Amino acid sequence: MVPTTRVPAALTLLTALLVGAAAGFGLVGCGKEGSPPRKGPAADRLPDYRVAQGFRLPDSPTWTRAKKRGHFVVGVKEDQPYLGERDPAAGVYSGFDIEIARMMSASLGFAPETIRFRTIASANRETALQNGQIDFYVGTYTINDNRKKLVGFAGPYYLAGQSLLVRRDENDIHGPQDLAGKRVCSAAGSTPYQRIKAEFPKAVLVAYDTYSVCVDNLLTYQVDAVTTDDAILIGYAAKAPGELKVVGRPFSKEPYGIGVPRGDTALRFAMDDALEAREKNGDWKKAYEATLGLSGVPAPAPPPIDRYPAS
Ligand code: GLU
Repeated sequence: MVPTTRVPAALTLLTALLVGAAAGFGLVGCGKEGSPPRKGPAADRLPDYRVAQGFRLPDSPTWTRAKKRGHFVVGVKEDQPYLGERDPAAGVYSGFDIEIARMMSASLGFAPETIRFRTIASANRETALQNGQIDFYVGTYTINDNRKKLVGFAGPYYLAGQSLLVRRDENDIHGPQDLAGKRVCSAAGSTPYQRIKAEFPKAVLVAYDTYSVCVDNLLTYQVDAVTTDDAILIGYAAKAPGELKVVGRPFSKEPYGIGVPRGDTALRFAMDDALEAREKNGDWKKAYEATLGLSGVPAPAPPPIDRYPAS
């Protein structure tokens, strides 16, 4: 067994991830003994999505615009391991959310390779969909009634829950009830931020645009915890196993939807159909296993699609 390396406090997440990966070599939960832990999705195991031929959706203004252009523009995250991650050298995006975007593109008649991805932070998703900057959004985007007033949601395609990430040597924080007087970081415009603000007002909330900045702040002792969905936190913990841990049980339900422009019901229903078909033909499970499943959680049953009526 290789001894765990202590990482000095003043490291950025990137450095910590590299050191963490090296320290994790051969440790339990980091792949087979002698094999280095995986850095990104298992590219060789990703499904090849069949592209629908002759597909048409003239009732959808978003699809019609994309057809003229020749490709979809999709909003995503770029710093969420196993979900939406961008390789800075190659500029390539990967992760479970990216796979969901690719399967939607294929089902709607566009080769997945043609997608142009745009990184959009949590706080800017609704505006990006409203002003036509993106055609749809796939990035750990919780469906809720407030957001439904501004955008539409296909899905859900996954069910997450809010949780807490702390440093490995933290012994006082086990759940949100322990956050009184503690500095807790989350992303502006996110449901986890709002929940702490509303339900745990004694916590000292700190907000940044992204969770990776929160994780940097956790590693450098600027904050005591990071809060967001378990699916996101598990990825950060898996990449820095000697430094970080996820604690407690999830304390909310975060059903992930595909954000679409609000009035475009034709697009929303077409995506609901496409998700159902990809869940049935095994593509959803294969995509999960090659991405989010690498963090160690076996594929759950996907949640039922909520085909809510147009309003
Ligand atoms: N799912 C939560 C949300 O939509 C947190 C993750 C995120 O910010 O993307 O707000």
